[in-house]
Amino acid sequence: MDSKTKVLIVEDELKLARFVELELKHEGYEVAIANDGRSALDIFEEFKPNIVLLDLMLPGLSGIEVCRRIRKSSDVPIIMITAKGEVMAKVMGLDNGADDYITKPFAIEEVLARMRVALKHKRTSEEQGESSRLSVRDLTLDLGKRTVKLGENSIELTKREFDLLAYLIKNKNIVISREQILNKVWGYDYFGETNVVDVYVRYLRTKIDDKYNEKFIHTIRGVGYYVKDDEE
Ligand code: CA
Repeated sequence: MDSKTKVLIVEDELKLARFVELELKHEGYEVAIANDGRSALDIFEEFKPNIVLLDLMLPGLSGIEVCRRIRKSSDVPIIMITAKGEVMAKVMGLDNGADDYITKPFAIEEVLARMRVALKHKRTSEEQGESSRLSVRDLTLDLGKRTVKLGENSIELTKREFDLLAYLIKNKNIVISREQILNKVWGYDYFGETNVVDVYVRYLRTKIDDKYNEKFIHTIRGVGYYVKDDEE
């Protein structure tokens, strides 16, 4: 028999946490709740959840800090819960390794849908196997280990930066639109905020192009981005 998918809810509003817990249990998930950032990390270690719903504004450690610490040792899907208007916080959350975010107030159906997407995305990337590699010129990505090397230099990327770079390299020499990138890398249609793609391309350029004085990621203004392989 399949074991239940385990969800850790990190939320300091007790009523909201309880409500989400009941709904998730009703859907067949096993649930644990943490009411602050520190206990979230402890419970995470013990409970070993398959997915985390992480409120941003928490007493003690912030949601962003919790996210960053979990990411040091785990690629568990993390969905950030943010209040309306916290745009910078969303970008920071995504940059610190969150897979997605939901804005309060939310409908429970939306939470369930985002969870399914995040869990499916995780399975898909696991199925890509240990040994598959992507490369362009002397830049190499190991999709199993999720490591990046330029020549002999290791490059540290966040989860989302890695996924974006992998997608661009899989489609090297093809111009990809922001919408395509959002759809494939973020996993569903974003409404508005397509500039999150530009933000992430900038992060990649800072870490790779600028740092090593090589130009991998090219912009076609008004169209999108592509990674160029000079050998072709
Ligand atoms: Ca809160």
